[in-house]
Amino acid sequence: MDNGLFDELAAIAPTKRGEPLSRHTTFGIGGPADIFVTVRGAEALRRAVVAVRGAGAPLFVLGAGSNILVGDGGIRGVVIDNQAAHVRGPEERDGALIVTAESGTPFATLARSMSKRGFGGIEWAAGIPGTLGGACVYNAGAYDGCLADVLCAVTVLGADDRERRLEAGELQLAYRSSGFTRGALPGVVVLATELALRRDDPAALSARIADFDRRRLDAQPRGRNSGSTFKNPLPRQAWELIDAVGLRGERIGDAQFSEKHCNFIANLGAARARDVAALMREAQRRVRERFGIELENEVAYVGEGF
Ligand SMILES: Cc1cc2nc3c(=O)[nH]c(=O)nc-3n(C[C@H](O)[C@H](O)[C@H](O)COP(=O)(O)OP(=O)(O)OC[C@H]3O[C@@H](n4cnc5c(N)ncnc54)[C@H](O)[C@@H]3O)c2cc1C
Repeated sequence: MDNGLFDELAAIAPTKRGEPLSRHTTFGIGGPADIFVTVRGAEALRRAVVAVRGAGAPLFVLGAGSNILVGDGGIRGVVIDNQAAHVRGPEERDGALIVTAESGTPFATLARSMSKRGFGGIEWAAGIPGTLGGACVYNAGAYDGCLADVLCAVTVLGADDRERRLEAGELQLAYRSSGFTRGALPGVVVLATELALRRDDPAALSARIADFDRRRLDAQPRGRNSGSTFKNPLPRQAWELIDAVGLRGERIGDAQFSEKHCNFIANLGAARARDVAALMREAQRRVRERFGIELENEVAYVGEGF
């Protein structure tokens, strides 16, 4: 990969070659990125994106890597590791309480810190391991809450490298999807998000979070995974269909449909992307044949080598 681009990125933020992406995904799976640059502010994110595009190199913006399966061959071009996590507010605006968080802010950390300070509305996100940027892509949600309920606006960098503010409605958020996942926002990178909160009792918020934590611990496996593998084909639940076709506990290599929650695939140690992909294909085949239902991936495939 181009030395000029490497040097340009290195002048903006810490930059490496050949960084294994298994270190940066919750699955613990993924081959190397040609170039890997870690940005710690929205301005560095903006400058890095502009530099990569200016050089005509492929670009992938990585959040917490909690909803992706990166191929064993890794990702060609540049991966921007988005750790832009500055938070401002909440501040009163037109009668609402708005917190502004850069797109690399971990959603769970924001939910917990706001709750402690007596700002509610996002406590359901206290167990979501992704960033606000990833949440905009998937309309992250849990326990009857989702980003669409609280998102007012985002600051984005458009494909034309111009910064602009989009109203939440322009992201077309729906169940685990958005204009991003439907290809309606090509080249758009989220720099920051604005969320509407409300005042609440910190003790009540902390009790709700403790309840959500307990429910998550009861229902979901610990260890390395990427959360839900398939979207729920509502009104059916994906786990129920995977269970019904006999795949609970099924294993290929070190990838296994979790015994505890079989819409999760666990990396038992040295799972490869191709093992996970093979399990996913098997579930889709069996569910299609038995129920005529097409299971849709919630986890996104990125890079090469499946
Ligand atoms: C244990 C576990 C539990 C989970 N529980 C939930 C849950 O309860 N509810 C839920 O909704 N999800 C859940 N998830 C899935 C995941 O946390 C969410 O989908 C999260 O929103 C993904 O964010 P991320 O930062 O990890 O995105 P990544 O996986 O890093 O990236 C996902 C996609 O978003 C794009 N992207 C990331 N940042 C930006 C940006 N700034 N601008 C433009 N595009 C961007 C990436 O390019 C990629 O295409 C869970 C995952 C795990 C591992």
